[in-house]
Amino acid sequence: MQLQERDKAVIWHPFTPLKQAPVPLPIVRGDGLYLIDEQGRRYMDAISSWWVNLHGHAHPYIARKLYEQAMTLEQVIFAGFTHLPAIELAERLLPLLPGSFSKIFYSDNGSTSTEVAIKMALQYWWNRSLHSDPPADASPSLKRTTILAFNNSYHGDTFGAMSVSDRSVFTMAFHDKLFDVLFIDTPSADNIVSLQQIIADKGQNIAAFIYEPLVQGAGGMKMYDVRLLDQLIAAAKQQAIICIADEVMTGFGRTGQLFASQHGQQQPDIICLSKGLTGGTMALGVTAAAQFIVDAFVSDNALKTFFHGHSFTANPLACAAALASLDLLQQETCRRNIDQLVTFNANFAQRLRTLQPGLPIKNVRHLGTILAFEITQGEDNYLNNLAATITARAMQKGLYIRPLGNTVYTMPPYCITLQELEWMADTIIEIIQDIKTPPVVPMA
Ligand SMILES: *Cc1c(COP(=O)(O)O)cnc(C)c1O
Repeated sequence: MQLQERDKAVIWHPFTPLKQAPVPLPIVRGDGLYLIDEQGRRYMDAISSWWVNLHGHAHPYIARKLYEQAMTLEQVIFAGFTHLPAIELAERLLPLLPGSFSKIFYSDNGSTSTEVAIKMALQYWWNRSLHSDPPADASPSLKRTTILAFNNSYHGDTFGAMSVSDRSVFTMAFHDKLFDVLFIDTPSADNIVSLQQIIADKGQNIAAFIYEPLVQGAGGMKMYDVRLLDQLIAAAKQQAIICIADEVMTGFGRTGQLFASQHGQQQPDIICLSKGLTGGTMALGVTAAAQFIVDAFVSDNALKTFFHGHSFTANPLACAAALASLDLLQQETCRRNIDQLVTFNANFAQRLRTLQPGLPIKNVRHLGTILAFEITQGEDNYLNNLAATITARAMQKGLYIRPLGNTVYTMPPYCITLQELEWMADTIIEIIQDIKTPPVVPMA
């Protein structure tokens, strides 16, 4: 039986309607920038397989490190035990992180990394409000419960992560089960003063502020100004609000800096990482916390323990992959590749803007290794059918992109060469030039 038929019989795919979705393409091999199907056709992975892959597929160095770790210790319970890969990864990550962090909490993916951050922040205030174990300033009024988040945000698919994410088609079926969140727009020159005012007015009840720094990924690669974010974080810190940077997508070089927060002056108190953490090879999440947060959990009172964990917390294979990815990321070659990609994007954006009068596109923008724009057809949302059409046309040409609704974006692995970048840009422009007749069918 063909793989596609076998798949259809038994598999339920993520973010994929069970009816009318295009049949999934079996991929049998990865080779650097390329995914290879059963017929040996090669597809340039221009979105890093959902933003995770940094150094290319089936990277021999990461593969070797994984193999060595698998032959040594593949998994061990992480309560009551520890191991070198987890310790070494924490030791190497902490000094690289934007801000002053003192401990790493491991989990399995991006959603759990934000879920952990939210729980940590809420329990920080709860712990501080417990009477039984004084600091002298403990009082019920210290217990803050509101979370501040951005409209159009995406922090994952578990319930806490969904709650702090935009109310959208992703979350619609669960709205009555999601906790209330104070949502504000991302900052602009027009609204910054009113946003600061909201924080000043409501700050006494706000436990934490969670944000995707500079780029809202799943929300459509929306970008906003670093100085305005700085002002919001500063306003939040003035109210002692815990600032949580969700760098699950932006981490590990995507914005040109190692972390997006490094573009600004104000640093978070908690940072969430996943996706590129292992170079995109293994599932792993990290939530790093500043000392003052950790301190609120250090107590003789067992109730102040952070009662959270996963079977595969700090899986040694995943930690080994993350260490190998860091090795590659810290090589001079990788730095040069990222710089090349950043420069290329500036030129590609300029080229698109020059072509824009004749192309059905708008809002060309870029930050670091990410470039995005909208196609001016149909509605500006995730259900815009253009996405499937563009993906299909690109695949015919050997390019893999997966627009978010009518938002086309590129975010390739750093190993992409200049020649490959130029082919990618030419191919995308060709595809957009071909969109003459509107293929948009309204969805029910
Ligand atoms: C992808 C993503 C998540 C969720 O990560 P998963 O590993 O898919 O659960 C959370 N936050 C941001 C910013 C993301 O891009």
